[in-house]
Amino acid sequence: MRWKSGRRSSNVEDRRGETVRHASTGGGLLLLLRFLPGLLRSRKGRGLLIGGVILFFGARLLGIDLLGLLTGQGVAPPPQEPAALSQQDQELADFVSVVLGDTETTWNKRFQAQGKRYEEPVLVLFSGAVNTGCGLGQAAMGPFYCPLDRKVYIDLSFYRDLKTRHGAPGDFAQAYVIAHEIGHHVQNLLGISDRVRQLQQAAGKAEANALSVRLELQADCLAGIWGHDANMDRQMLEQGDLDEALNAAAAIGDDRLQKQAQGYAVPESFTHGTSAQRHRWFLAGFDGGEVSACDTFSADPL
Ligand SMILES: [Zn+2]
Repeated sequence: MRWKSGRRSSNVEDRRGETVRHASTGGGLLLLLRFLPGLLRSRKGRGLLIGGVILFFGARLLGIDLLGLLTGQGVAPPPQEPAALSQQDQELADFVSVVLGDTETTWNKRFQAQGKRYEEPVLVLFSGAVNTGCGLGQAAMGPFYCPLDRKVYIDLSFYRDLKTRHGAPGDFAQAYVIAHEIGHHVQNLLGISDRVRQLQQAAGKAEANALSVRLELQADCLAGIWGHDANMDRQMLEQGDLDEALNAAAAIGDDRLQKQAQGYAVPESFTHGTSAQRHRWFLAGFDGGEVSACDTFSADPL
């Protein structure tokens, strides 16, 4: 992919190395204060309290910070200095901001053509865990979009997984992942995600999953639309790039992931679609370059 000369987006929020505190762990100290009067009234309680104080100072002598554990400070991982980030990670962050900038170019243009305004989303880089408008986000969940704060979250270690665990290396494969999440933002702006959520609430489990598959495949198709523009308007693609994206789309299909994890696939539990379907819908967007080609909701078969 020819990306180095591309425009960097100003919508990247770098929160790598940020410490995430779990709100519930601070409750220990509050709980202690609440029961303190009761403890002081009874003999047993006073004994318990004295025991606690001895335990606290004893632990202190041993170098264990019990108060820190109660308030949550003791369990937080030590903050990582931005300077400690490897050069490889810095280059990845640079790459991500170019891809995000390029999706902005595509979707600003496409929304404008429809007389609409594209609201550019923020992309958050994090490491390990992050607080989001949708609750606690963790690296193990893979990259995700939160419709409530309209932000895309990615821990760059996912790219190592994509390469080593899923056998999908290459920069266009990495770009496709971002373009897919941006696809969810586009669905959110167009009101598609809301409508699907409403339908899912009234539906049974299997039907709700089927709707989720259609939503995910549409995001793949919208990622294909970005690929189309990046290729036609901005000549970013090189030989072999398309194969990288198609390989990545196939590698993270539900059937292949389930077979890897448990040896067999259960189609009713799919929420993203099969490898073949993801492959096909990315191409539908990429080849046609028309959003109208991404109507996965009336497609039969998918
Ligand atoms: Zn998705």
